[in-house]
Amino acid sequence: MKIALVGIGKIAVDQHVPAIAGGPDWELAATVSRSGKVDGVEAFTSIEDMLSARPDIGTVSLCLPPVPRFQAAQAALLAGRHVMLEKPPGATLAEVHILHDLARAQGVSLFATWHSRCAHGVASAKAWLADRTIREGRVIWREDVRKWHPGQDWIFEAGGMGVFDPGINATSILTEILPMPIYLTGAEIDIPGNRQAPIAARLQFSGNITADFDFREQGPQTWDMEFVTDGGHLALRNGGNKLEIDGKAVEGDDKILGAEYPTLYAQMAQLIGEKRCDVDLSPMVLVADAFTLGRRNTVEDFEF
Ligand code: NAP
Repeated sequence: MKIALVGIGKIAVDQHVPAIAGGPDWELAATVSRSGKVDGVEAFTSIEDMLSARPDIGTVSLCLPPVPRFQAAQAALLAGRHVMLEKPPGATLAEVHILHDLARAQGVSLFATWHSRCAHGVASAKAWLADRTIREGRVIWREDVRKWHPGQDWIFEAGGMGVFDPGINATSILTEILPMPIYLTGAEIDIPGNRQAPIAARLQFSGNITADFDFREQGPQTWDMEFVTDGGHLALRNGGNKLEIDGKAVEGDDKILGAEYPTLYAQMAQLIGEKRCDVDLSPMVLVADAFTLGRRNTVEDFEF
């Protein structure tokens, strides 16, 4: 199937292009980006131009930041194309509900992807937790924004989500593996004085689960979650890629993102074959509720 990639930035180059090239289902037939390009692939600077020039391209994968994503997704769906959304799937929840309704009306597939759910240890963690009672849980997601999002000013704009851009990966895993639904009960959010989006956040959820997200981590980076249950201790480390049970490594390794994007593209091909959508907004509901319920602190200005 022919696919177009929109927004040729860091994640498109690092993950989407190799995942499309390496899988059996897809051919990268066009890109849409104001400055980014992929060698040997027809490049457009506007999605409308691509959609009208290339009716043979049935699927569009959007790697834009969340704020400009809705307009591009709507244009592609109205043109009868299947659409794949990077995470977070939109700038607001209502946008994504509208896209989902539009996809169903058009009879095409919409996939709101959550790449961290495809990390090595996630499915096994979910299976292990399924018949246990969680007594306590702790998520620590601390990384250096200068290392992972160099110069991406959009991340600190309104709608860029700040530290919730990586933090939503944690909530995507939480909402996948926990045997019960959770909801936010409290939050504290730190916003630099010269920015619109948080640089750190501490969250409390039902079920005695907490989360600590921070974009200012120097030295070792941490993307871990741990749970104390009635039947032992589970730790999922390295962004869901390494599973430990009672302190012993049982699955995965220290690599990040290895198979996540090839899995997403295989899932997209399957959704199209089955004429289905996959739009789970539960990870984003927890983040939106942190903005709604959270107490705000103004902290030191931040520059890249
Ligand atoms: P990025 O490097 O800034 O790339 C985004 C691209 O979108 C830009 O290169 C830009 O290309 C295009 N764009 C169009 N309108 C834009 C606007 N108003 N502001 C900024 N860029 C705009 O960002 P990214 O890291 O690839 O992230 C994109 C999405 O992928 C985000 O939703 C992010 O959460 C997700 N993601 C990122 C990572 C990661 O490690 N970086 C991992 C997983 C998921 P042109 O200027 O050429 O149009």
